[in-house]
Amino acid sequence: MLHPNSLYHDFLQPAEIEFLKKTAVFCQKEIVPFAADWEEKEELPRALFTAAGKAGLMGMLAPKAVGGQQLSILCFCLAIEEIARHCGAFAMNMAAHNALCVGHPLGYASDELKQKIFPSVLNGDWMVAWALTEPNAGSDTGGVETTATLLPDGTWELNGHKLYITMGNHSDRMIVMAITGRDEKGKKEFSAFWINSAHTEKVRKVKTAGVRASNTSEFYLKQVKGELVGQRGKGQHAALACLDSGRLGIAAMAIGLGRAAVEIAKQRMLSRRQFGKRIAEFQALQFMLADCEVELRAAEALLLQPCVMHARGQKFTLEGSFAKLYASEAASRACNRSLQICGGWGYTRDTFVERMWRDARLCEIGEGSSEVQRLIISRTLLKAAEETYGLADPAARK
Ligand SMILES: Cc1cc2nc3c(=O)[nH]c(=O)nc-3n(C[C@H](O)[C@H](O)[C@H](O)COP(=O)(O)OP(=O)(O)OC[C@H]3O[C@@H](n4cnc5c(N)ncnc54)[C@H](O)[C@@H]3O)c2cc1C
Repeated sequence: MLHPNSLYHDFLQPAEIEFLKKTAVFCQKEIVPFAADWEEKEELPRALFTAAGKAGLMGMLAPKAVGGQQLSILCFCLAIEEIARHCGAFAMNMAAHNALCVGHPLGYASDELKQKIFPSVLNGDWMVAWALTEPNAGSDTGGVETTATLLPDGTWELNGHKLYITMGNHSDRMIVMAITGRDEKGKKEFSAFWINSAHTEKVRKVKTAGVRASNTSEFYLKQVKGELVGQRGKGQHAALACLDSGRLGIAAMAIGLGRAAVEIAKQRMLSRRQFGKRIAEFQALQFMLADCEVELRAAEALLLQPCVMHARGQKFTLEGSFAKLYASEAASRACNRSLQICGGWGYTRDTFVERMWRDARLCEIGEGSSEVQRLIISRTLLKAAEETYGLADPAARK
């Protein structure tokens, strides 16, 4: 829930504040009673996605004209943060669904394809996955080896191997990044395709440290028919643009997890007694709490800027990297400190801190690792400095 003093109030419409209140009610009713069981079973029920569709959570960023909620990206982030407080796995699913699985066709698909796939994608009837990563293509998306071949009858056929795809094997439809050829310099041409997931060959649910209830999938594509999403050759550009928004969702997920862990730690500090006093009286723990709060507030502040830039229609890649990098690492530290404050109890599965600690760790890796964010930031800063000081490397011009 929004703190009454939160700066965010100034950037949200009344309808968005109402949406966030409804999301909090949704979490209490549909997630809180069941999250521990989903974690134990390592599965999210399909009915949850249907309920999320009815609550508008599957189409947060899509315009009303196609059946979406038309919310700002800030409101989307705050909804993800709220969900993450209760279930990191579902928060990750909702973040990826809205920013990537809906964001990609929304920004790049033909009107014809949009009409065909919306509203099933937005109302929870279809679960959609977004598949870029492969055994040889992680941080380096240039390693993609999946191919899409244009057949004489004008249809596309995909062949390849995808790995670590969120809900890949539970999805109904999927957006798949594939290579459609090479340019005159031999550079790979990337394109995105819409496929029916029933035609993939499922390999396994990959067992993960955190977000266990999410189905992290491995599968093959063998002669799978696909439909182009956007222009041929523009797939990598579109994927990277969608990841800009996706990273804000991951930052929000991290903040939600960090906040939830700190709430448990505060309650433990006030209820646990050692050496004849509440552990809240130990300065070592007080300082850990203070550091958590300062860092989470800094993460919230860093998240606001790219959200405002998105609303203004400005490019926010750099600011999104600041937010994602800082929020994910701050959340990991907050969860780690919260676990420490809770002692042995924190390490057990009698509480949720250890789950949040494992879930938050994903935020430092998924949708561009911390190192990739540092690369984006440093490269952008140095490029701007080259231009400012006229110090471009002459060798690079050759
Ligand atoms: C739970 C989960 C869900 C996921 N969901 C999806 C999904 O839905 N769709 C999808 O397409 N992908 C998904 N992924 C994949 C995810 O995006 C990648 O794992 C991530 O981008 C990192 O790639 P990698 O795992 O191949 O690591 P690698 O690229 O192999 O990196 C290994 C290490 O090297 C570092 N590194 C790499 N390059 C550099 C460099 N140039 N300089 C410095 N350090 C570098 C990395 O930061 C990392 O520390 C998911 C992953 C997980 C774990």
